[in-house]
Amino acid sequence: MGRRFFVGGNFKMNGTQTFLKNLIDNLNAGQLDDNVEVVIAPPALYLDQCRKQVRKEIGVAAQNAFNATSGAYTGEISPEQLKDLSIEWVILGHSERREIFKESDDFVASKVAFALKSGLKVIACIGEKLDEREAGRTFEVVTRQLQSIAKVVNDWTNVVIAYEPVWAIGTGKVATPLQAQEVHEFIRKWLKENTSEATAENIRIIYGGSVNASNAAELAKQADVDGFLVGGASLKPEFVTIVNARI
Ligand code: PEP
Repeated sequence: MGRRFFVGGNFKMNGTQTFLKNLIDNLNAGQLDDNVEVVIAPPALYLDQCRKQVRKEIGVAAQNAFNATSGAYTGEISPEQLKDLSIEWVILGHSERREIFKESDDFVASKVAFALKSGLKVIACIGEKLDEREAGRTFEVVTRQLQSIAKVVNDWTNVVIAYEPVWAIGTGKVATPLQAQEVHEFIRKWLKENTSEATAENIRIIYGGSVNASNAAELAKQADVDGFLVGGASLKPEFVTIVNARI
């Protein structure tokens, strides 16, 4: 069975009720490739609005979730609360969370494990920074990030891995199709050797970092690129073109 292509839109801290309503109207009206799983990730405040407005075949993800069900965790949101709003997915380990909010590999891993145990599906982000790539440490960094998740996750069925080189996020500097393929292939091989052949074969490994309507089709041709996590371009009508990159 082939892996279903997956395209996520990470809206980050952007949008208002009106802006998101217009964006969703455009998505709802768009002709989207049926073979693609589409998930949008609005800011937490607008999850409920977006879940209600977007057509049901499109999934909705939170951009973060804490590793407890409830309690004295000011400012946090739990997987239970997301499920209460019929939110199916959560993005964890985004480089902005790792960098700006100092989330460690182990903290990200514990949130991944907790979200999965709570019944959410997880888009787990990994990727190296520019200095790490320039120092030839890309594989070492993604291995370290994967290893911490693999320590606490046995069943990867509900995980999508987003390889997002930090130097490509929001910079307009997209990885070349070969650069993306090289790391995706490495990740799949690592999963084969460290989890199981079935996990490696079935898991979706998506690419994120300055994907747009012009570069998506070439990236999508790579054997181990199973989709995209899209930031900036997901806030524009071109998101529909990215979803349809393989048509
Ligand atoms: C992201 O933040 O996940 C991302 C890929 O952003 P952009 O597409 O804007 O580089």
